Amino acid sequence: MTTKQPKSAISKAIQTYKRVLATLKGLFIVLKFAFRKPATVQYPEDKLKLAARSRGRHYLTKWEDGKERCVGCELCAIVCPSQAIYVKPESNDPNAPHSHGERYASDFQINMLRCIYCGLCEEACPTGAIILSNEYELASYTRESLIFTKETLTEKNPGDSGRDPKREI
Ligand code: SF4
Ligand code: SF4
Repeated sequence: MTTKQPKSAISKAIQTYKRVLATLKGLFIVLKFAFRKPATVQYPEDKLKLAARSRGRHYLTKWEDGKERCVGCELCAIVCPSQAIYVKPESNDPNAPHSHGERYASDFQINMLRCIYCGLCEEACPTGAIILSNEYELASYTRESLIFTKETLTEKNPGDSGRDPKREI
């Protein structure tokens, strides 16, 4: 049968010293951060502005004269790795063209549920028509509302999306 040895006064004192030291360290960390600006953001009241090159919601842009940049070439749809883009090209009416090319997109859809925000569509576009803005609030309650139509995607006025309407590509 073994008997429990009583702790010596020195080891008890060392333990007490360690506990006090740990408590003081904790208090020091609390005090260190207590007067700093909080790192957390009170979203949705406060919103972070993302970097200009961050990739979020798409826009279909317009030229300075209000014409659509998209010429319905379908390159964006071909290059999209998640097959999220649908383009329906049609020939322009010479008397009332929608774009500066022979064709325009009579229908344009992006399934935002499929999109992985890789930006390849933006890179492939020969006219700079499609861009990924830095808008990130894309949550919705229905799947249907996340299939963005041409009307949803097209900027209302040239430059609304942030793209310089004078920029060539
Ligand atoms: S960002 Fe990428 S995944 Fe999304 S639509 Fe463009 S090419 Fe497709
Ligand atoms: S957005 Fe650009 S790549 Fe896509 S169909 Fe229009 S012109 Fe072509």
